[in-house]
Amino acid sequence: MRALTWHGIGNVQVDTVPDPEIVNPRDAIIRVTSTAICGSDLHLYDGVIPGMKAGDILGHEFMGEVVDVGSMSSLNQGQRVVVPFTISCGHCFFCEQGQFSACDNGNPVENQDASEKLYGHAMGAAFGYSHLTGGYPGGQAEYVRVPFSDVGPIVVPDGLPDEQVLFLSDILPTGWMAAENAGIQVGDTIAVWGCGPVGLFAVQSAVLMGAAQVIAIDHHPHRLELAQKFDARIINYEETHVGEALMEMTAGIGPDAVIDAVGMEAHGFAIDNVVDVVKQKIGVGADRGHALRQALLAVRKGGRVSIPGVYGGMLDKWPLGAMMEKGLEIRGGQTHVQKYSADLLRRIEAGEIDTTFLISHRLPLEEAPAGYKNFRDNQNEWTKVVLKAH
Ligand SMILES: [Zn+2]
Ligand SMILES: [Zn+2]
Repeated sequence: MRALTWHGIGNVQVDTVPDPEIVNPRDAIIRVTSTAICGSDLHLYDGVIPGMKAGDILGHEFMGEVVDVGSMSSLNQGQRVVVPFTISCGHCFFCEQGQFSACDNGNPVENQDASEKLYGHAMGAAFGYSHLTGGYPGGQAEYVRVPFSDVGPIVVPDGLPDEQVLFLSDILPTGWMAAENAGIQVGDTIAVWGCGPVGLFAVQSAVLMGAAQVIAIDHHPHRLELAQKFDARIINYEETHVGEALMEMTAGIGPDAVIDAVGMEAHGFAIDNVVDVVKQKIGVGADRGHALRQALLAVRKGGRVSIPGVYGGMLDKWPLGAMMEKGLEIRGGQTHVQKYSADLLRRIEAGEIDTTFLISHRLPLEEAPAGYKNFRDNQNEWTKVVLKAH
């Protein structure tokens, strides 16, 4: 089969690789119809996530048709499914509490140990990502093996086109959980850093959860325009001082909750971020924390901080004093996709949530390398790339 494979920084290729096979009775094989490039794939493309090997198949946002099942799969051949990016056993202590992304069994123990050595914490499992997260072949391919297929995939009705449901794999539940983690009360003001796919879904979710005012922060004019579709007020941080603008928009109080949908590759010319960039480049720091610091300093006293942005390791200059003095509540985490799938599918079917506004480009799988390059280099116009694998 054909698959998008990683070969080093800025180097991905479509190669011919062996077809996946059932190796465990709970497996299923999916014939991929649609798959997307995620902002967190760009962290691999930029080489800021360790644990990659040449030839790794990328992709953790995918859907398709079930073509083969193991004896313990709950799926049937011919069903259309969307597959969560997290790989969860469904039966461990964490899965039973609905904390699917914290599953103890998805990621083999040796990888958990390796990430613990590097970062101080064990990582869960995901498709098409670093060997620190299991090294599972991803879904930017014609076919993919789905482990624990009786737990993750959600069956979607035939009437719904791929593009309406594909993002149930990651970015829609991630944006939704980001808004949930912000503890939104009706009438709140919520500020969202980053108008990438997750940030935009967080904006849409915050409105659905009753926020009176949502403020979106980015520097790409077109991405800010997309946020305005949901009546968000916008701040272009290249033109405006973010902290001052937020105080002005909230009568001097600050936003009730803030969402950092930027993560480890934050831009910004502030000195703290320049130091982070240098440390990341020479491999002594995992993260660039500019957006997060700005969010922590801007949120109102007693406010909530939600962190869906991806971070890897130890971050310097975390404004611990602001956290303490202001009495902040902070929540983050990889998304517990399985916990949200059914409710979000229902909302899509009911027309409450639209996901298609985000898609700027549709490419055949063979053109995925150009998709990666443009998604990274032309972020204003390339807001989301969907690859057609069949
Ligand atoms: Zn993703
Ligand atoms: Zn589990």
